[in-house]
Amino acid sequence: MSTVAEHQAAVRALVSSHWRPATEYPPLGAALGRVLADDVRTPIDLPPFDNSQMDGYAVRADAAAGPLRVSGHVAAGDPITAFPGGAVAIMTGAPVPLGADAIVPVEAVGAPGEFAAVDDTVELPAPVEPGSFVRARGSDLAAGAVLLEAGTVLGPAQLGALAASGLTTVPVRARPRVLIVSTGAELAEPGEPLAPGAIYDANAVSLSAAITLAGGIALATGVYSDEPGHLRLALEAAGPVDLVVTSGGVSAGAHEVVRDALEPLGVRFGSVALQPGGPQGLGAITVAGAPTPVLCFPGNPVSSLVSFELFLRPLLRGDRPVLRLPLSASVDSPAAKHQVRRGRLTDAGTVELVGGVSSHLLAAYARSDALVHLPVGLTRAEAGEVVEVWRIDE
Ligand code: AMP
Ligand code: MG
Repeated sequence: MSTVAEHQAAVRALVSSHWRPATEYPPLGAALGRVLADDVRTPIDLPPFDNSQMDGYAVRADAAAGPLRVSGHVAAGDPITAFPGGAVAIMTGAPVPLGADAIVPVEAVGAPGEFAAVDDTVELPAPVEPGSFVRARGSDLAAGAVLLEAGTVLGPAQLGALAASGLTTVPVRARPRVLIVSTGAELAEPGEPLAPGAIYDANAVSLSAAITLAGGIALATGVYSDEPGHLRLALEAAGPVDLVVTSGGVSAGAHEVVRDALEPLGVRFGSVALQPGGPQGLGAITVAGAPTPVLCFPGNPVSSLVSFELFLRPLLRGDRPVLRLPLSASVDSPAAKHQVRRGRLTDAGTVELVGGVSSHLLAAYARSDALVHLPVGLTRAEAGEVVEVWRIDE
């Protein structure tokens, strides 16, 4: 029996020794959700020049006392000019004239938005602090500094910062192509009539969605059989992929199709001290002529998704946001297992469990927005006890 941490490390070692993603350079408009392949530095100062944070008057702080003549007017987009002395009416985003060092907001002088005309006189409230309301060149980031680190997932703010730096493309990791194979003689394709004793294949869709959200390209196939030969045929027919994920057929029962098909090929099967998700398989097999890592998850729908969250998602997407929250009610947990329960964040700032322990409770999982971790050694946690919670609602 291995620990969760040991199996995570084994999966990481296996996947990283095979999957070395190429770097692609999509335009920013096509890079949402992609993962940065390299550090990206800004080629320009952000902001690129000293500019005004307010509508107001640009002055020299040490010459702002007493009446001042309004000596000019600059708006956003105007060129950078020399400061002629006095007070220059300046709009938000306009370049601070060279030689001025502070902005006095217009509402500190008169009514908001009402500027004195050029050659009028204004009286500013003293004292004026040098640098006030000036957005200094490079104050967000200096040219040449790292803007985003390798591994960053590109969202709206990251893409906006790249655009603000004038960049048009961005180095991202090629998406991993993941073949998902759901197995089991009892499975039926949603939409088909359900024969007595059959159930619909949930995992092909749920694992595909999980892979897609984690930035991968999911290719799903169902081997609705417990014949090892059928699974081997499906794998032989597959095109090149970076990774294979199977579901089902990995326990110690009589018809363990994945185990029966892949153990002779060198995939190793064993138990992880995890509930759900205890039985796991891991190895490399030949797919489309290339050695390809394969992760074998148990078939229960909750087990396979929890397996994905613990073992694969961190490699593709990084860690989930981790919270430490008090439980809304007490819970028991097996001492020897790391138990992962499904939960929901409450308005009271606690986490409540949704559904029971059993790993077939997919509808309950579908009402959850969190995974609740009850580590090895914990047999009972009381209401109010703080536990580790992963947010899974994105
Ligand atoms: P297994 O891991 O093959 O022993 O399957 C464990 C349980 O999960 C059994 O009740 C299976 O019927 C169920 N199961 C396996 N694969 C799927 C699937 N793709 N969708 C829904 N349930 C599944
Ligand atoms: Mg099965």
